[in-house]
Amino acid sequence: MTPQQFQHAVLAWYDRHGRKDLPWQRDITPYRVWVSEIMLQQTQVNAVIPYYERFMASFPTLEHLATAPLDDVLAHWSGLGYYARARNLHKCAQTLVNDYAGEFPRDVNALAELPGIGRSTAGAIASISMGLKAPILDGNVKRVLARFRAIDGWPGRTAVANQLWQLAETYTPDQRGNHYTQAMMDLGATICTRSRPRCGECPLAENCSAHAQGNPQNYPGKKPSRDKPVRSTTLLFLEHNGEIYLEQRPPSGIWGGLWSPPQLDKNGDAEASAQQWLEARNLRPQEIQALPPLRHTFTHFHLDITPLWIQLAKVPQLVAESGGGWYKLRQLNRPRAAQELGLPAPVVKLAKQLLALQAPLLAPCTAD
Ligand code: SF4
Repeated sequence: MTPQQFQHAVLAWYDRHGRKDLPWQRDITPYRVWVSEIMLQQTQVNAVIPYYERFMASFPTLEHLATAPLDDVLAHWSGLGYYARARNLHKCAQTLVNDYAGEFPRDVNALAELPGIGRSTAGAIASISMGLKAPILDGNVKRVLARFRAIDGWPGRTAVANQLWQLAETYTPDQRGNHYTQAMMDLGATICTRSRPRCGECPLAENCSAHAQGNPQNYPGKKPSRDKPVRSTTLLFLEHNGEIYLEQRPPSGIWGGLWSPPQLDKNGDAEASAQQWLEARNLRPQEIQALPPLRHTFTHFHLDITPLWIQLAKVPQLVAESGGGWYKLRQLNRPRAAQELGLPAPVVKLAKQLLALQAPLLAPCTAD
């Protein structure tokens, strides 16, 4: 199959079956495409759509995003995970406003240098919103190309990635690059799916090497397995009069910039460490109770969380010292609390557990 035949097959399929009414396919601008591409990096289309629409309603332009408080941006991201994406989005918007007069550079290499924009995202922005010829190689495209040409090996290895980029360049057409880019992403997302590719409906099936071998699932090669390390932590759910204390996390690290209960690295006895922490702040608990532990899995490690529920009769100076705040437990359990307050998903989950345990003891909440 020549590159021209490949392009023709992909574009003809797109004309009949491709997705053409996604929110970021309307009023196409580099800004709108960029935000969608960043959101789609680790998250599927259906999950992204409501986040994207809320984000665009709050930050309709690059300038709105650049001048928004980071907290506000993170709150809109809460629930999407991988918060470094949101921090980079904000930083990149400021870079574009300050150093590029608020315009995206019309050059793939310059785009790829911006915070959070790699080569593939730069290619997507350039081809979809600027009409430039630029290959992309996101997860979907990697899968289609690795299967089509039966490229062995894990794409995280440079040699494999180089082979795939070479193919991506070869197949990217001179014309209709915007449709081709969208078509390849759609093909990977809807036909050449990770676990059950629908080869019978694929425009490339007749020439696909993995299909001929009968083993598409073997491509692309998997990352050499290595068990994820496990880290442990303790979250202190300080409760006073039905309110929970939250403080903002440092900008980098896990859940950077979001709000969570105070966290202690867990070495040994969680309750004893909590007691020391409380004593250092002159806080006297009425009771300390361990809640069921929770494992939260990140890309590179598992985090085993020991939540402690600590009832306090008085809270001298705690807020003033740390810049934290008190939130009604019921407020944390509202449907969009994670987005509105900028909370990590496990904190919301644990707050729900705490509310279920303590509901009979809490006063009704009338002024959220
Ligand atoms: S034929 Fe099957 S394995 Fe090959 S690209 Fe199409 S869906 Fe993927």
